[in-house]
Amino acid sequence: METMNGRMRPSTATSQEIRALENILNTKGVTVAYEHPTPRDPDVGWGCADHATPEIFDPDDDDMLAEALSVCGGCAARLLCLDLGLRRAEWGVWGGVLLEDGKPIEKVKRRGRPRKVAA
Ligand code: SF4
Repeated sequence: METMNGRMRPSTATSQEIRALENILNTKGVTVAYEHPTPRDPDVGWGCADHATPEIFDPDDDDMLAEALSVCGGCAARLLCLDLGLRRAEWGVWGGVLLEDGKPIEKVKRRGRPRKVAA
């Protein structure tokens, strides 16, 4: 919109635009990682550090979850890893526990639409 002196007046942002900007400016992940950084101590033996299939720690099915849990079972950093996962509200397998937003869950959640149930 043009004003009396010929300049353009900035339009007022809609609530939807403001929400989109808030999402861009959301620094929660950065703040939490800053408060609970991953230890860089070379003596910490992360059991999955060089694992050939790291995607198992973000499992899509029960087989992937079982494989991740078996790796975690022999990991020396298990308690530290779980503590980080809980504090940073992580997702996936941390310390031998499947987390969703930092909360332990029992099963892998299926992606996509739920199955149709016959009426
Ligand atoms: S406990 Fe953590 S660091 Fe150890 S193998 Fe499992 S996910 Fe990796």
